[in-house]
Amino acid sequence: MANAIKGIVDESLNALMDDTTFLPELKENDRKKAFASLVSILSTPNHVHKSFLRVTLEDDRVVRIPAFRIQHNNIVGPYKGGIRFHESVNEAEVSDLASLMTLKNALHEVPFGGGKGGVSINPRQYDTRELFLICRKYVQYFSDVIGPEKDIPAPDVGTSAREMDWMMGEYKSIRPGRSYRGSFTGKSIINGGSLGRREATGKGVYFSFRYLLHDFLKDNEQWLSERDNRFAKTALANVNKSFSVAVQGFGNVGSVAALEAYRCQHLNNKVVAVSDKNITLYNADGIDIPALLQFTEQNNHDLPVSEEELGKANVKAELMDRDAVLTLDVDVLILAALGGQVHADNMEEIKAQIIVEGANAPVTGEADDYLSDQGVIIIPDILANAGGVIVSYFEWLQGRETQFLTEDEVFERLNSKMKKTFDTVLPQFFGDPFPLRQNCYMHAVMKLSTILFRQGKLY
Ligand code: NAD
Repeated sequence: MANAIKGIVDESLNALMDDTTFLPELKENDRKKAFASLVSILSTPNHVHKSFLRVTLEDDRVVRIPAFRIQHNNIVGPYKGGIRFHESVNEAEVSDLASLMTLKNALHEVPFGGGKGGVSINPRQYDTRELFLICRKYVQYFSDVIGPEKDIPAPDVGTSAREMDWMMGEYKSIRPGRSYRGSFTGKSIINGGSLGRREATGKGVYFSFRYLLHDFLKDNEQWLSERDNRFAKTALANVNKSFSVAVQGFGNVGSVAALEAYRCQHLNNKVVAVSDKNITLYNADGIDIPALLQFTEQNNHDLPVSEEELGKANVKAELMDRDAVLTLDVDVLILAALGGQVHADNMEEIKAQIIVEGANAPVTGEADDYLSDQGVIIIPDILANAGGVIVSYFEWLQGRETQFLTEDEVFERLNSKMKKTFDTVLPQFFGDPFPLRQNCYMHAVMKLSTILFRQGKLY
């Protein structure tokens, strides 16, 4: 994914150069210069903060741990993005993730810029006290550059509400008497977190495909039938259909998306397969997701891996290889595990006509091109998995106002925000031959470019 942003910005701006309705004030040489400025501004981060956290471990050893906070762009608002604890964390990856946050926030009109943090550790190799120290050190080292109006971190891979609570506590100690609730999002409810934050990404992932295949499709059937493109054909083939759904990953995102699909009143869904890091479970008649959730909650979040465990869970399903979930004959495949799951070696075996990216970049570029050419509709990560950052924004607002929303209010606002984005991108997506991902990038780049121009940043 290294330097993905450069390609995205180049491609989007090349397509926009000859579109005279976009920034019509900019003509000829001025236009060329302004577009060159945009490429330069959007392709590079504003700031790269790197430190080596000095931490004393339980055995009295002192270690220096690489840590990053990368701030890509804040033209729309304070930088915003998670802090990842993983041994593979490096500057290039954090930088790419920061830039993708800029695009995601711009696309969904969340008034934040893009940032990302990371600490190069395997958190499982540290005990609770050591992790607590690492979190405090992170805040101490970066306290000058983060804050409610500057840069607002959130959980990411390897971090959770626990780490955000610790970090906010440290931020409050370092800056006594200042506002602190908005310094971190994804906190526990008692510490100012938002109801619904935990479920937000999975709910948004499910909403994405429900909105496309139910609401949008029903309202636009006639219009779609007049469009002569492969994606419109795929969508129309799904009118009034009962859907079979497979979900890869049964963690925070996948299990919530699966439960939403199981409960959905709008579509005639059946969740026929779910998987995790060990196994795929398959039942053509549908899997009892609530029973499965009850089991995983008591079993370290792992799915049953034997007939005996299926019996304990009271779930009827066939046990299959872990990766079988990807190539089953289903209508919808929700990818909610890891990046790079659909790739050159398995893309030709994918049968789903709709793929929803709950994880970040689960479909590689090559597989994306191949499947898009076949008319498969891929609802990209930037569009489908934004529920977390949208509800983080609600959490930040609630922290400022010290007025808290009910869970229903949170989900209502989440759906309405995602609906607005879908209504912006879908007509153009079905109107031209570009995949939805490219369409989303284009919208985000257009928004950022217009704001940069209007704020006089291009000269
Ligand atoms: P999680 O750790 O709660 O769950 C991950 C799930 O994937 C687990 O069920 C795990 O067993 C499974 N898994 C791991 N390796 C697998 C493999 N090789 N094959 C199949 N399943 C595998 O994580 P999560 O919070 O649900 O996040 C899932 C993905 O979504 C991650 O890539 C994350 O970066 C992305 N994401 C999460 C959020 C969020 O708010 N949680 C927001 C945006 C993107």
